[in-house]
Amino acid sequence: MTFQADFFDGYSARASSVLVKALPAPDSMIEFDSDGRRYRYAFSEIHVQARLGNARRLIDLPDGGRLEANQIEELEMAMQSRRNAFWRMVHYLENHLGWVIVALIGTVLAGWMFLQFGVPRLAEYVAEATPPSIELKLGEQVLAGFDHKMGYLSPSKIAVSKQDEIRQALADMCKKTGDCPRYRLEFRESEMIGPNAFALPGGITVMTDDLIKLSKTDTELVAVLAHELGHVKKRHAFRQSIQGALAGLILAAVTGDVNSMASGLPAAVLQMRYSRALETEADGFAMQSLQKACLPPKAFADILLRLSQVSVSKGDKKQAQRQEPLSDILSTHPDSLDRVKPFMLAKPTCSG
Ligand SMILES: [Zn+2]
Repeated sequence: MTFQADFFDGYSARASSVLVKALPAPDSMIEFDSDGRRYRYAFSEIHVQARLGNARRLIDLPDGGRLEANQIEELEMAMQSRRNAFWRMVHYLENHLGWVIVALIGTVLAGWMFLQFGVPRLAEYVAEATPPSIELKLGEQVLAGFDHKMGYLSPSKIAVSKQDEIRQALADMCKKTGDCPRYRLEFRESEMIGPNAFALPGGITVMTDDLIKLSKTDTELVAVLAHELGHVKKRHAFRQSIQGALAGLILAAVTGDVNSMASGLPAAVLQMRYSRALETEADGFAMQSLQKACLPPKAFADILLRLSQVSVSKGDKKQAQRQEPLSDILSTHPDSLDRVKPFMLAKPTCSG
C-alpha cells in the first residue's frame, strides 16, 4: 500500500515529494525516504486530520513534520485494520504490562471462583438429575475398589449375630422416625482406616470392626450410623464425587491433560473430605433422628469422645501412618468437643 505525498520536515517550508508506504498490522506504521533519510512512524504516533471539503488530506507527524496528499484511502484502510476494536484492545494490552497482569489474575480468579462456587452448584444439579440406580452403581464400584483393588477393606470378623443386632437396632430407629433414606449397611475390617464409619454414593454405609469393638452400646453405633444417614439423605458422597469429576474435567479441558485426570480421579475420591457445613448438616440429622426415636443423643457424644481419645492415646504415630481413606467421623473434626456439646445436653423429644 503506497501513496504519493508532499513532505514538510517542520523546519523549512520546502516540500519534497515522497512515496509513502503504509504497512498494516502487525507493523502498523508508515515509512518513506526523503533526502537520503528514512522516516518511520507508527500509526499510533501520527494524526490524520479530518477531511475538509475537497482540500488535500493532512497527516501530522510527531516531530512537527507533515504530509499532504490527495489520496490516502490506502493509509486509512491500513489503519482501519488496526482500529478493529478487538485488535485495538489486544494492542493496548500488549503495551500495558500492568493490564496483562490484571487480566491474568482475573482469569485465575474467575477459574478459582468457578471451581469453588460454580462446580458445587453444578454438581448439585447433576446429582438431582441422576437416577438413584446410577448413584448406587457408582457406590458399588467404589466399594469394590476398596475391597479388591486397593485392599483397604477386608471381610468383617464380627460375629454375624452381632452384625444382625446392629442392623436391627438401626432399622428400629428408622421405623420410629420414618425419616431414613434408603441405605445398605456393610461391615468391614480395616487395619488402615481404624475405628470409623463412612457413607458411599447410593447409601452404602460402611462401619469398621474397630468401631464396633470401641462401642459400649449398640445405641452408640446407631448414633454414628444416624450421622452417616444424614450424609446419605443429602447425597453428600455422590455430590462430592461429581464435584471431583467435574473439577477434573474442567482442569483437563483447560490444560488438555486428560491422563492426569483419569489417573487422579480415584485418588480424589479417596481424599474426599466433607466440609464443616456438610458435617453440621449430618450431625443435625443424627440429633433429630435420635430424639425422635427416644434414643439418648449423649450416645453420639460418648463414642465420639472415646474415638478422639483413642486416636490421641495411640499416639499420632499410628494415626499418621494411616492414610485414612474416606474416614468420616473422626478425621474431619479436630474440634470434637464443640461438636459433641449439643449432644451431651440434648434430651429425647419423644413421648415413648
Ligand atoms: Zn460426617
